[in-house]
Amino acid sequence: MRKLNIKVAIDGTSGSGKSTTAKLVAKKLGLIPVDTGAMYRAITLKVLRSGVSVHDEAAVVRMAEETEIDQRVIDGVIHTYLDGEDVSSEIRTPEVSKWVSVVSAYPGVRRRLVELQRKIAERGGVVLEGRDIGTVVLPDADFKFFMVASLEERARRRVNELREKGIHVEFEDVLNELKMRDTLDSSRKDSPLRKAPDAILIDTSNLTIDDQVRLIINEIAKRYPEVLEIASEKGTREGMETGEADS
Ligand code: C5P
Repeated sequence: MRKLNIKVAIDGTSGSGKSTTAKLVAKKLGLIPVDTGAMYRAITLKVLRSGVSVHDEAAVVRMAEETEIDQRVIDGVIHTYLDGEDVSSEIRTPEVSKWVSVVSAYPGVRRRLVELQRKIAERGGVVLEGRDIGTVVLPDADFKFFMVASLEERARRRVNELREKGIHVEFEDVLNELKMRDTLDSSRKDSPLRKAPDAILIDTSNLTIDDQVRLIINEIAKRYPEVLEIASEKGTREGMETGEADS
């Protein structure tokens, strides 16, 4: 089976289901999944560890320019490396979630990460997932999707995910954090969260992950009918490790 040399962009709000969907689509089609949010989280972690204030833009940008970030998929799970260290778990802490939208708003930080993301995408056969993939990182992507869901539904999913991990959180706190990140991500000057005009909108409020994956694969199949065969060869969702859920 030939390798599909396509670039797929999946953007959307936090908790819309885009991370899980992107990983499953990539797995089913033999593409490389790239979690760009994890890259912004890794830089944020480095800043928090260093003691530099997240509000010191010049220092944060300098740090980003000196940082190496890499991603590798191991057994279906995306691992993120910060200067060679696997930080996949640490980047999901509430502290990182709280500050990542501040760090990611700095144009210097974005410049560094967009450059890195484009380099990864140049290899082809990729699914990049984030906020500005269809608009800024890969305006020439072969397929663009924009995933949204109601705030309440996203908060409910997040609370359930955390509870499954034994972490108790208040629904209101989660809802407020999502709301704050939505506002910061959508209102920043550089590359705000926005649907590309040619992106397909998917409202996941009443969809299962399997529905979302099917929808995207069917869309790709309109131009590349062979993906239906590839997807069925690659097995079902049940047999897969999906790694971190959307955060
Ligand atoms: O996808 P995730 O929720 O892990 O992303 C964390 C944060 O990283 C987002 O809230 C946003 O501030 C930032 N981000 C971004 N551009 C991307 C991906 C993520 O600004 N392409």
